[in-house]
Amino acid sequence: MAAHVERIAHSGDVLFATTPEGRRLSYAGLWARAGQYANLLRRAGARPGDRCAVQVEKSLEVLALYLGCLRAGVAYLPLNSAYTPAEIGYFLGDAEPVVFVCDPARRDAFAALAAEKGVGHLLTLGAAGEGSLAAGADAEPAEGIDHRAAPDDLAAILYTSGTTGRSKGVMLSRHNLYSNAETLHRAWRFTRDDVLLHALPLFHTHGLFVATNITLLAGASMIMLARFEPGEVLAALPGATVMMGVPTYYTRLLAHPGLTGEAVSHMRLFVSGSAPLSAQTHRDWRERTGHAILERYGMTETNMNVSNPYEGERRPGTVGFPLEGVQVRIADRETGAELPRGEVGSIEVKGPNVFSGYWRAPEKTRSEFREDGYFITGDLGVQDEDGYISIVGRGKDLVISGGLNVYPAEVEMVLDTLPGIQSSAIIGVPHPDFGEAVVAVVSARPGAEVDEAATRRALSGVLANFKVPKRVIVVPELPYNTMGKVQKNELRNRYQGLFV
Ligand code: ATP
Ligand code: MG
Repeated sequence: MAAHVERIAHSGDVLFATTPEGRRLSYAGLWARAGQYANLLRRAGARPGDRCAVQVEKSLEVLALYLGCLRAGVAYLPLNSAYTPAEIGYFLGDAEPVVFVCDPARRDAFAALAAEKGVGHLLTLGAAGEGSLAAGADAEPAEGIDHRAAPDDLAAILYTSGTTGRSKGVMLSRHNLYSNAETLHRAWRFTRDDVLLHALPLFHTHGLFVATNITLLAGASMIMLARFEPGEVLAALPGATVMMGVPTYYTRLLAHPGLTGEAVSHMRLFVSGSAPLSAQTHRDWRERTGHAILERYGMTETNMNVSNPYEGERRPGTVGFPLEGVQVRIADRETGAELPRGEVGSIEVKGPNVFSGYWRAPEKTRSEFREDGYFITGDLGVQDEDGYISIVGRGKDLVISGGLNVYPAEVEMVLDTLPGIQSSAIIGVPHPDFGEAVVAVVSARPGAEVDEAATRRALSGVLANFKVPKRVIVVPELPYNTMGKVQKNELRNRYQGLFV
């Protein structure tokens, strides 16, 4: 990535990013700033392979710091800005970074913790570019440092979202990132004329790698928003050609009267990922805007694996086909043997995009790879006769009721087509007779009411009895994290006493 950025930086005044507040950053500016950060990291004692942990608010400076780490050969380690100091303590202890960059407002809260964890330098970076990191970088030269990295060298450690348990540190090499960015850039037809609307957080694969690395490789530019807010997104869309989002961005935009066909008629592409996009949202979006959202599937450990086609049918409720160079199989959960089409199994992947292992957890790494090198994603899927892959849920979310498998996505898909339902989550809850009972937790569309008995009746007409939820619980809103993922662990805890 760094080599590409350098080339663009030296080929004239090419624009990299703008913000609604009026900031403009060129590739040359980005490259120079990254050089200053690289020099500062070195001065702080960070050597190739060391970690630089970062928990800050979103800003363009953050991307310069990411690139600065690449230039210095230091592993970039972003952390969710919502994590509390107590949670951060775990990550600092696990990753042992030489440098930890935090928000200026949190410096005091972190000082003792950073010292206790042996962090060499606690520096600060604020959303407006203030703080000791930026001030230190101002005094550094922009050139004179470019680590000669090998493709397998560690580029970043990203922690998984922690949806199913404690977050795991994922070691990603330069080639993991580069190869996936190349593949996506071709698959989604990025050019230097593209302008990406960037509303995603920068501490996660989606906003940091998928969105940013493709933009950098294409020599395109981005409009960077500090957060996702429907009104701000609609105001910025006229200047963009592509938007990437998590499914809740699309449902929230659909709830906004400003989303019209006219408002997005100039757009080239809408991409969704990180969580399942309901087929109903896909259809609603198409009806309202004329655009078919391109849904893709990936994870922290692998970058992107599967994508709906740029040309050809983008099939609602599916994530499409394996990306070029990525081998994907739907396999027997026990043996890893490939299953015939149409059967539900473990999604397993192999390719240059797949990480080398979990940070300081060789046992965990070993248990998640097959002997033939395939990574066991933990997701369950099925491939239809045309080759389109659908995610039917995580292995850990599979409900086994009365000895029969119930795949959450199948039931959620039917629920989402019912007129009053906004979104739904299927969970398994302990039950004295069935082992687990299927329970639906749903939210209603604005102004609509959801009746439990009527909902169960409607499902009985479509689904086998054992799949029909024993209870339908209506809540004002499902618990989503910042990546638009429903926190099913939280729901399971909340309702564990329902039947016992
Ligand atoms: P943890 O591994 O810590 O439990 P996580 O799996 O949510 O958290 P991420 O790496 O951020 O952490 O998310 C990857 C997961 O997100 C995938 O394994 C899959 O379950 C889900 N996912 C991503 N894209 C899609 C999609 N298009 N449809 C359905 N699920 C998706
Ligand atoms: Mg995961």
